[in-house]
Amino acid sequence: TVAVVLFTSDLRLHDHPPLRAALAAADEVVPLFVRDPAVHAAGFDAPNRNAFLAECLTDLDASLRRRGGRLVVRTGPVVREVRALAAECQASEVHMSAGVTGFAQCREERLRDALAADGVALRVHDGVVTAVGAGTVTPAGSDHYAVFTPYFRRWSQERLRNPCPAPRTVRVPDSVRGEPLPSRDGLSDVSPGLPAGGETRGRERFARWARRDLSGYEDGHDDLAGDVTSRLSPYLHFGALSPVELVQRARTHGGPGADAFVRQLCWRDFHHQVLAARPAASVQDYRTRHDRWRTEDEAAEDIAAWREGRTGYPVVDAAMRQLRYEGWMHNRARLLAAGFLAKTLYVDWRIGARHFLGLLVDGDIVNNQLNWQWVAGTGTDTRPNRVLNPVVQGRRFDPQGGYVRRWVPELRDVANNRIHEPWRLPERERAHLDYPEPLIDLADGLARFRHARGLD
Ligand code: FAD
Repeated sequence: TVAVVLFTSDLRLHDHPPLRAALAAADEVVPLFVRDPAVHAAGFDAPNRNAFLAECLTDLDASLRRRGGRLVVRTGPVVREVRALAAECQASEVHMSAGVTGFAQCREERLRDALAADGVALRVHDGVVTAVGAGTVTPAGSDHYAVFTPYFRRWSQERLRNPCPAPRTVRVPDSVRGEPLPSRDGLSDVSPGLPAGGETRGRERFARWARRDLSGYEDGHDDLAGDVTSRLSPYLHFGALSPVELVQRARTHGGPGADAFVRQLCWRDFHHQVLAARPAASVQDYRTRHDRWRTEDEAAEDIAAWREGRTGYPVVDAAMRQLRYEGWMHNRARLLAAGFLAKTLYVDWRIGARHFLGLLVDGDIVNNQLNWQWVAGTGTDTRPNRVLNPVVQGRRFDPQGGYVRRWVPELRDVANNRIHEPWRLPERERAHLDYPEPLIDLADGLARFRHARGLD
């Protein structure tokens, strides 16, 4: 007997329940990845993620080969490809992980119907892409939690399964043919500082980080210059690491740092369960609708300055330049850069979210869109009208200016007490800096925000 395992956002061998179930059910399995043009057409891919994905696939293939198998890659509409492959190798079942986006839900439904018509069973496994499956814990009277803290309390009580080990051997039918693996070489517009992808790299990174920085995570996670967060988000996005395994390993480690890290992983699950229940929240305001946003036409120059990291607010500019260079940004920096666009400039959050998605190596519809909504005050933040001040936040989370100096070299020689407000430097010194004046007075931005929200 033969089973197909369709890999999607779960590009790993450790703790992979669909693969494990397929190996238990069949003599041979076909590990399959489909490059579906619909992903590109929907605007979900981006050069940084394509590069990282290529390395995840290469690594997965190498790990499978060490176990006697290989990864089969095909290009085409996913339903057509899975169906054709199942027929070719006479598979009786197809296994895959449950997804949460509208795209993933629709894919699952279409696959189920198409395969059923051929007499092939589709087995969908929950709790692979997230630690706790979306929809597993719900409050009384609703299909999802809309507020994080009660969700976290309930989520923490869930008993997680034990992570399953990577298989020892994988037998793939000889007759099955695939395409050459995609490669990172030759891809254009990839950020120069992009990390390397793949399960092997992800596991190494986690082990190193857990040894060195996990204990200090609670105190250090907001320190922009310290940069001690795990940077595991791209590996989680592609499923090169298992969220269940990370939660379990952090809990075994124990301590306040590990608790704080587990709480962040819960944020990821939280957003997944919101989007699974409300797929339209990827584009529509989730809780409170605001319709006075400035549009691309109305705010073209402000948006361009923000994208390029020349707003004149050093911490915002540092954040936007880090995004371009690394395809990644520190969480505190994301909050500040996004808050500046959505609240101080009062530009539609969707414009900012699109720019982030075009560059972030961990960029995903779930976490990006819902975090943007949180920041814009249209989503799950219980204090939707708070406005972060980039000067105050810069002083607090980058007190020595190390983060700003790293990404905005024009300000390298500015003293700590002026690094977050270089416009206050004496004119003589100011004139030597090749750095813009503030794009907007913060008080004016706040007044516009309050007016648009009917708060004045
Ligand atoms: P750590 O601090 O080490 O946290 C560990 C893991 O917890 C992360 O890897 C991530 O998977 C998860 N996590 C942490 N914070 C959050 C959060 N607020 N929401 C959801 N999961 C979280 N994260 C993405 O994975 N993809 C995105 O597209 C994305 N877009 C964002 C956009 C905005 C405007 C904001 C404010 C946040 C966004 N985040 C996104 C969340 C967060 O900023 C990143 O997950 C985090 O910075 C990744 O760095 P890390 O792996 O070092 O995190």
